[in-house]
Amino acid sequence: MPQQDWTARWALYSPEKVAVREAETGRTLTYGQLDRLSDALCTHLQQQYGVQTGDRIALLAENNLEYIALFAAMQRMGFVLVPLNYRLASAELDYLLKDAAPKLVICEDKFEATLKAGEVLAKVPHYLPWATLESFCEAQKDEAQPPFPLQAVGEDHPAFILYTSGTTGFPKGAIYSHKMLFWNSINTAMSLIVNTESRTVNVMPPFHTGGWNVLTTPFLHHGAYTVLMRKFDPERVLQLLQEERATLFMGVPTILKMMADAPGFEAAQFPDLYYLIVGGEPMPIPLIEQWDAKGVPVRQGYGMTEVGPNLFSLHQADAIRKKGSIGRPNFYVQTRIVDAQGQDVAPGTPGELWLKGPMVTPGYWQNEAATQKAVTDGWFHTGDMVRADEGHYFFVVDRIKNMYISGGENVYPAEVERVLQAHPSVAEAAVIGVPDEKWGEAGRAFVVLHATGKAGEAEILRAYCKAHLAKFKVPRDIVFLDELPKNDTGKINRAALKG
Ligand code: AMP
Ligand code: MG
Repeated sequence: MPQQDWTARWALYSPEKVAVREAETGRTLTYGQLDRLSDALCTHLQQQYGVQTGDRIALLAENNLEYIALFAAMQRMGFVLVPLNYRLASAELDYLLKDAAPKLVICEDKFEATLKAGEVLAKVPHYLPWATLESFCEAQKDEAQPPFPLQAVGEDHPAFILYTSGTTGFPKGAIYSHKMLFWNSINTAMSLIVNTESRTVNVMPPFHTGGWNVLTTPFLHHGAYTVLMRKFDPERVLQLLQEERATLFMGVPTILKMMADAPGFEAAQFPDLYYLIVGGEPMPIPLIEQWDAKGVPVRQGYGMTEVGPNLFSLHQADAIRKKGSIGRPNFYVQTRIVDAQGQDVAPGTPGELWLKGPMVTPGYWQNEAATQKAVTDGWFHTGDMVRADEGHYFFVVDRIKNMYISGGENVYPAEVERVLQAHPSVAEAAVIGVPDEKWGEAGRAFVVLHATGKAGEAEILRAYCKAHLAKFKVPRDIVFLDELPKNDTGKINRAALKG
């Protein structure tokens, strides 16, 4: 894989071209400005905070221009970005800061209180308010900068550490390497219409691989144009897609549903939009049809933080013919479908999806045991149960890993159960995902109390969860039981809970 300083290259080709624009403020950065900021930030971060190649910088902010400037600088110096999920509670953020051990935390004002309520920030060597970073970038973006040389890093060197919760109840930092960034961009470009003229609106948050996929797809190999939205507003996105003549839009089903339900949808026209790219979970067929009727076909994708993320895609022409399918693997993605022993299943039989290719993570951050468990001879175990038909179209039929998806956010019941069980009134707890009109799925907790009969216990437990967990993980409802259903081995029988 060639090590390329993409910002420098696009600044050479098209220095005056706007790379990114903020929807809310109208602020922009051209490729030339991004290139100058990349130099300025590398020098500044090194001199002011002693940041070196390999050091982690944790970020707590919504989509904005400085995030992109830091991304460009990361590529040049090889420090490691740790985007933190601003929906997390302070105890959760503490856990991530401890694990990533950043040299510097950069945080937007509005998230500062949550971060400072924790105990770990005080131990981080340096703290930078986002507003200070913003002033620095404003002052430097049009000044000539002493060049900061591209630092040589290995292809497995982390570009990001992206935290995913896990089936053990504690988050793991998935290393997203420079090689993954490169090959994901190639795989994406080979499956989608992306070119230098592409125009996209990005509403995906910057702390998930999906968000970076949306951002890097137009940037890395195409020097295209992106409008960034800090806060998803369905009506405003519909306007932006039209005003900006967007050619590409990527989202998760929940946001595409909110857009289709917004008042402006009926009159909206999208003559420049090739299609919608949907990932993270299955898009309901009626919703596909609703967009299709607007002249906007839908491409269903399948992705995963640790492998890519862009792995499968269903051609828009197949959206209905092959409904429910995630499509075929992208070009440089190898697949196997295996049984519980890791042996290939017979054609057409469901089994666990294993993936191999240059976009597989080098591992979890300082967690060799988790890496060993997840990868066998370069094959990453997805934890998803799939089947492939004779045309090599794949279908996700079930999930082996214990996880559900709420509004595009993965929720691992083990994590929620761990919190519930820590409450003094709770003897046992189990959490499952149940269908939800707005979020796709939402949590339902089954709780056995030590002493039954206290009024208002459900609200007390929900408040307790809220204090320890991001809101999207807090169970929507709580059902009290005298005991949890168990199978022969004493494990909770989740199928029985699903009913
Ligand atoms: P993440 O790391 O957040 O991207 O989550 C990856 C997981 O999301 C996969 O292992 C799947 O369980 C799920 N997922 C992603 N795309 C789809 C899809 N199109 N259909 C069903 N599940 C999906
Ligand atoms: Mg996801």
